[in-house]
Amino acid sequence: MRIALIAHDKKKELMIQFAKDHEDYLSNHTLYATGTTGKRIMENTKLKVNLKKSGPLGGDQEIGSMIANGKLDLVFFFRDPLTAQPHEPDVSALLRLCDVYDVPLATNNAAADLFIKHLKGK
Ligand code: PGA
Repeated sequence: MRIALIAHDKKKELMIQFAKDHEDYLSNHTLYATGTTGKRIMENTKLKVNLKKSGPLGGDQEIGSMIANGKLDLVFFFRDPLTAQPHEPDVSALLRLCDVYDVPLATNNAAADLFIKHLKGK
């Protein structure tokens, strides 16, 4: 599967832990991430991640474009709902496109864990 990993700043530690916890599973898939999230994941795991631009600099739109073009199968986007994001329109557009194209989207750790448990069961 082609999987996108994105985390807002206050959720990056959580995303790194998620990537570590599921490193074996994720290593069997093609990974994409916004710039800083992907860089941090690669620094902390052995995973290879295809990097897009940083979220606020267009990375969310790049991921959105992949969704619109049928190039992603699953999105893990750990959002921070308590901090204003300068690129909120880009965030909303990405989330919207997941619904437009019916791409599974986990926006928090609990949902991500459920997704992974389900996928590992297959
Ligand atoms: P980042 O972008 O991984 O480059 O920090 C994430 C975001 O804020 O959308």
